[in-house]
Amino acid sequence: MQKEKPYKILKPPKGLERYILMHADKGYLITDNKTRIGTCSCCGRPQKIYGLKHNDTACCAHCNRTVIVKESRYGRKKLEERGRILYLKKYSATTYAELLHYTIDYTTTIPTVLYAESDVYKLNKEVQERYEYVRLYVNGTWQWCWEKARTVKITDVFRGFGWKGHYIKTIFYNPSISETGTDLRYADFSICMDELGQYPPDYVIGYINNFLKYPSIEILQKSGFLHIVKQKSFYNVGSRAINWRGRNLKKILKLDAGELTEFRKINMGEIYTLEEYKKIKKIFLMLSFKYIHLFRWDSINKNQIEEIIKYMTIETLYKYVCKNKIPITDYQDYFSDLQKLQLNLANRRILRPKDFVKAHAERAKQVVALQNEITLKKFLENDIAAGLEYNDNKYLIRPAASPEELQKEGDVLGHCVGTYINKMADKRCAILFVRLSAEPNNPLYTIELSPDYKIKQFRGRYNSTPPEDAKKFVSDWTEWLAKTKRIKKGA
Ligand SMILES: [Zn+2]
Repeated sequence: MQKEKPYKILKPPKGLERYILMHADKGYLITDNKTRIGTCSCCGRPQKIYGLKHNDTACCAHCNRTVIVKESRYGRKKLEERGRILYLKKYSATTYAELLHYTIDYTTTIPTVLYAESDVYKLNKEVQERYEYVRLYVNGTWQWCWEKARTVKITDVFRGFGWKGHYIKTIFYNPSISETGTDLRYADFSICMDELGQYPPDYVIGYINNFLKYPSIEILQKSGFLHIVKQKSFYNVGSRAINWRGRNLKKILKLDAGELTEFRKINMGEIYTLEEYKKIKKIFLMLSFKYIHLFRWDSINKNQIEEIIKYMTIETLYKYVCKNKIPITDYQDYFSDLQKLQLNLANRRILRPKDFVKAHAERAKQVVALQNEITLKKFLENDIAAGLEYNDNKYLIRPAASPEELQKEGDVLGHCVGTYINKMADKRCAILFVRLSAEPNNPLYTIELSPDYKIKQFRGRYNSTPPEDAKKFVSDWTEWLAKTKRIKKGA
């Protein structure tokens, strides 16, 4: 713990107050009712007021900011705005950054800005440190102390409670961007600038911290690998694919000269692509960055690749998919279709067709047909509901006769019985139709029956509950079923 301020300098820079007022979320035109002159809280300049009333919205005649008119004779109780501001200050090799809390008080005729210390950063090649101004219990009393923080970053500050709470905004004092110590003389802060020409404070601190810590940041930036510098500096994306302490590009990115040229070409590279490349290369040794989009790491099925390379070399597979621009997943799908269809995998035309897209579509169709045949066969073998047909004067009940009929029942009644085809084929249930005897072909109510003859579901259109007389019919049927089962048992 450190009680002293960890550095000597720092009085807020001269322009800081005006900068804060200019960057406030809201601006006000404080008007004097007698002189008809208003003063803009943002730029501080006076102007004539014509036909404006208290709380009107206006536009400052000098800085063009949207401002709210406030007549000075009315009270402006609790009119204030809070935030934090970060600025830099150099001292020899070291760059200091100070983070201040500010409160803009608009209740005075000229707005006043009040400050409170928050954090101080000490940044050079040897140390990158942050100190927080905190209240600690020391020697029996509460005291404000500077304490060394564990991380060097801009921390979030939350104000208020529950859903009313919000993050306090933090701005950077742009004019101080050149106030950097000599350890940063080769740093190029243009990378930290956003599209509005501002420097987000977390980008500035992140960049300085990483630039001083790792020589690789400067090398990567000079070589144009800006994505990587940003990912590391702004978003703290680490990676084993990169040696941040490397002294030259090849060592940093762990690539040879040829790979480096290729990596540079694809959008100047980024960490994610580099990681993918290194992982995929363990399987496809001949991989080039040019074709990396065909080989997404999480879509590669290693077992499937093992199977495929029993029939061709990994080089042949690589060349084939690259030449035909086939994503590796598509080829894996295609190969598994060939296996399902039990085709001759030694045949080159089957394994590597000239028109892959066409062959893929055809094989997929054949697989669907084959699976339908298998399902039908299993469906027919399901005899849970055999001999359970029954009817009275109004209703009839009978089992589903084919997978297509089951599908139709689901479509017409708008429920999900169509998806029960596999469950039924696996003899985990039987599906029966309850229909009007007068209209035996029209779907009406559907029953799911368990293998031990228990009714699991009895549903009508859109899963509705069937009427009382249908329920009565089904309960008659169950009674009859119990008797039939007893007969079965006896037999
Ligand atoms: Zn103004």
